[in-house]
Amino acid sequence: MYRRLRAHKDPWDLIVVGGGATGVGVAIDGASRGYSVLLLEQHDFGKGTSSRSTKLIHGGVRYLEQGNVSLVMEALRERGLLLQNAPHLVNNLAFVVPNYDWWEAPFYGVGLKLYNLLAGKYGFGESRILSREETLERLPTLKTEGLRGGVVYFDGQFDDSRLLINMVTTAAEQGAVALNYASVTGLTKDPEGFVNGVKVRDLEDGSEFTAQGKVVINATGPFTDQLRHLSDPDSTPIVAASQGIHLVFDESFLAGKSAIMVPHTSDGRIMFAIPWHGHTLVGTTDTPIAEATPEPVALEQEIEFILETASLYLAKKPTRADVLSVFAGIRPLVREGDASNTSALSRSHTIRVENSGMVTICGGKWTTYRNMAEDCVNHAATLGYLPERECVTKHLNIHGFLPNAARLGALAVYGSDAAEIQKLGAANVMHPALPYMEAEVIWAVREEMARTVEDVLARRLRALFLNARAAVEMATRVAEIMARELERDSNWARDQVIAFRALASGFMAAGPEN
Ligand SMILES: Cc1cc2nc3c(=O)[nH]c(=O)nc-3n(C[C@H](O)[C@H](O)[C@H](O)COP(=O)(O)OP(=O)(O)OC[C@H]3O[C@@H](n4cnc5c(N)ncnc54)[C@H](O)[C@@H]3O)c2cc1C
Repeated sequence: MYRRLRAHKDPWDLIVVGGGATGVGVAIDGASRGYSVLLLEQHDFGKGTSSRSTKLIHGGVRYLEQGNVSLVMEALRERGLLLQNAPHLVNNLAFVVPNYDWWEAPFYGVGLKLYNLLAGKYGFGESRILSREETLERLPTLKTEGLRGGVVYFDGQFDDSRLLINMVTTAAEQGAVALNYASVTGLTKDPEGFVNGVKVRDLEDGSEFTAQGKVVINATGPFTDQLRHLSDPDSTPIVAASQGIHLVFDESFLAGKSAIMVPHTSDGRIMFAIPWHGHTLVGTTDTPIAEATPEPVALEQEIEFILETASLYLAKKPTRADVLSVFAGIRPLVREGDASNTSALSRSHTIRVENSGMVTICGGKWTTYRNMAEDCVNHAATLGYLPERECVTKHLNIHGFLPNAARLGALAVYGSDAAEIQKLGAANVMHPALPYMEAEVIWAVREEMARTVEDVLARRLRALFLNARAAVEMATRVAEIMARELERDSNWARDQVIAFRALASGFMAAGPEN
């Protein structure tokens, strides 16, 4: 990537700041239209919100309830396109709304019929009302007391950071230059005060460089206002940051292949319990926070709230000791007046052309990243006097594209890359609690730009998100393999393990010593 960067002498058509779903989506869109694109991420790709989602590619049943039909239809169409373009990473999952009151079956039955109807040709399957027995067949661990039945509907599920990493490769294959550990520390401006480039610090060696661009796109998610402030110190903040956490338990809490959807928790939110990579993922919360930080930490009351809500529905009450991992993410919601109730804020995206000419794209959802990118590049092309070119991403396969990848078992998420990983040998599984092989570490370093133990254990493999303790136990071996691959010494490996342990303690609900 650095070689490509140095070889590029002209101003870039597009410089994209931020390597989450939004920024990488924009990079793919721009590069596949034939524009020259430089993508800069200050940490690792997906370090921000894009690795910390509920892992749903969904229309959002809740937005239907809020009457936002156009957002739901947009998301349902994107859901269908993503299943078509990245079938190795998106799958169709059955969600059951358990009914404990007489009115729930007809009420949710009708709502979920409409949800499927709005998907039109991109439908994932008919929703229907289930008897009590059918509900328990799908969800054998559900609390039976007072259970009347349920409603089943279908939606998409994915592995967020795996998709993102494959998207980075896709962007690079389309010609983009994508750098991680490259922080944008400033903006350059022309004599009239318009942004015409970025100042970048390479966080690995501390060196600095500038890059000129016809359009600079701010896709920094929760950090949107920081870059806007650099572009215009008088800018008014637009992001209302809201935190959401998830707890991860072992598979036994949700035996079976269906997810639970609770449409109204005690505080009026939606909550999911979802089978994910052989574990049970439960979340999320919606807590307004004052300021975004790169490594948000779950609040005590959020952990308690999820444990309490889960125990209302699960026969076996989960406790703190059962939590294998807890992770927090920050929604970059766009502020509209009063931001005290962030769960009511729109999940639609916003594109702004700042007074400085920088383009800001913010909000939206993982599910709608492609559409957001199309919209953003359309704006940027006009603004930057770029030759008009059609967006091609509706039918652009994401790297790794492979239908029926489930047959590959633990390597399914790699899609067409799985065969290459198998060729590496190194098939040792590194920990009894997780399926990850040494070959995957080698692959992550050689092919997926993993630079640290955290990059591997958090985002190339999902060990940290599935079982933080197991991830810590894998860290030494991962550091050894990485040191060999990256030609680093044993001090590097030791420091990596220390840093990873410190990070992982934030993913443990009971603290590292218990
Ligand atoms: C708890 C939770 C659950 C969610 N669940 C779902 C879901 O199930 N389905 C769904 O569709 N959506 C979901 N979302 C929404 C979705 O995750 C986000 O909309 C999406 O990930 C936002 O991506 P982003 O690229 O805008 O932000 P981010 O992923 O945060 O990316 C921004 C990036 O910019 C980088 N950056 C910041 N400043 C700089 C700088 N100066 N220089 C270089 N880089 C910089 C950051 O390091 C970061 O990596 C969820 C969100 C949350 C919080």
